[in-house]
Amino acid sequence: MERKNAWKKYTEEEKAAVFAYGDEYRQFISDCKTERECVTELKKRAIAAGFQDMEAVIAKGITLRAGDRVFADNKGKSFAMYIIGQKPMEEGMNILGAHIDSPRLDLKQNPLYEDTDLAYLDTHYYGGVKKYQWVTLPLAMHGVVAKKDGSIVEISIGEDAEDPVLYITDLLIHLSGKQLQKKAAEVIEGEMLDILIGSRPLAELPDDSKKDAVKQNVLKILNEKYGIEEEDFLSAELEIVPAGKARDCGLDRSMVIGYGQDDRVCAFTSLFAMLETENPERTSCCILVDKEEIGSVGATGMHSRFFEDYVAELMALTEDGNPLKVRRALRNSYMLSSDVSAAFDPLYADAFEKKNTAYFGRGLVFTGSRGKNNSNDANAEYIAKVRQVLDNNEVGFQTAEMGRVDLGGGGTIAYIMANYGMNVIDSGVAVLSMHAPY
Ligand code: MN
Ligand code: MN
Repeated sequence: MERKNAWKKYTEEEKAAVFAYGDEYRQFISDCKTERECVTELKKRAIAAGFQDMEAVIAKGITLRAGDRVFADNKGKSFAMYIIGQKPMEEGMNILGAHIDSPRLDLKQNPLYEDTDLAYLDTHYYGGVKKYQWVTLPLAMHGVVAKKDGSIVEISIGEDAEDPVLYITDLLIHLSGKQLQKKAAEVIEGEMLDILIGSRPLAELPDDSKKDAVKQNVLKILNEKYGIEEEDFLSAELEIVPAGKARDCGLDRSMVIGYGQDDRVCAFTSLFAMLETENPERTSCCILVDKEEIGSVGATGMHSRFFEDYVAELMALTEDGNPLKVRRALRNSYMLSSDVSAAFDPLYADAFEKKNTAYFGRGLVFTGSRGKNNSNDANAEYIAKVRQVLDNNEVGFQTAEMGRVDLGGGGTIAYIMANYGMNVIDSGVAVLSMHAPY
């Protein structure tokens, strides 16, 4: 069942549309490197497309009608969009889902220290990373510092051409004889992923601060630029990510290289699907969540009740919020849960089984990993329905499993939504080097 390469069938006009869309996508992942930055951008685009804030709709007691568009912002880190359908919601919704968090390094609560005239920020890694990939790269710091007075300071260092960048050192090759004998998992250990942030001491310090003069200088710069003090790190969410913009990759510009494509490539495409949908039969919904990379936990992850609560709110704003109807709406829904899939890499052909692998250019990937761990195991009947919709609309797609059966696999948010009894299938875009900095 060979799937066609989509590049072969595009007209010149369609190719131009593909590249224009690619340009916009590249800009999106260059600008949105944290879940908070994603929600800020999603909200901006949603408002421009006529979506109303659900909190405002509730406060004003507005009754929603077919065609109305609303969004819900969950703590600035996960985001849901809805377009009210013509049919009653209890008949079910059509749902798109993806996640907007990506693997990275987070600052610890008490991060800043000085050792031998160098100042560092201590980190822990978030999500699955090959630690050796994160050294000797230009890095940026993004995030927020919440101050005791209630104000929020937004931080972005390392993205403007004039900005300094941050860095993690590695041992020079000349002295690495012993290090290179270690297993790849241990060549760089988690506690070695400390960010080098300064080497210039602050002059004229009182005697009790003299030994930390480089750290004091870093604190002085942070205070001058952002008005923050060392204690403010306690209530901060600061993320270390690769610095710089996403780029076209390949002489034919057929690929995009950039940070955070898992899973912002699916978030971006889901967003566009919502923005372009008008007057749907069934209520359309798009849910973009945080914390997938660490098990979908927390108030902004898919395991949180916020999605269900918003659906209940929405039903109360349209017909009535009868809890039984809410359960019916969830149970009767269809979902494409999208997350990236592993594209076949000929250099690592051993990790894949060629008949059931995703390939670049062959379209949206449906990942059914029957019986494998973390599987939502989509129903055959639902898959048949999806196939029909795609074929009727000439949408290219392929099916795949993530790697050879004994090699492992990956989870998504699909199984959590399947708990409601709704039909869910894993789908998404194929990527190379998943979870690498670029
Ligand atoms: Mn993912
Ligand atoms: Mn991932």
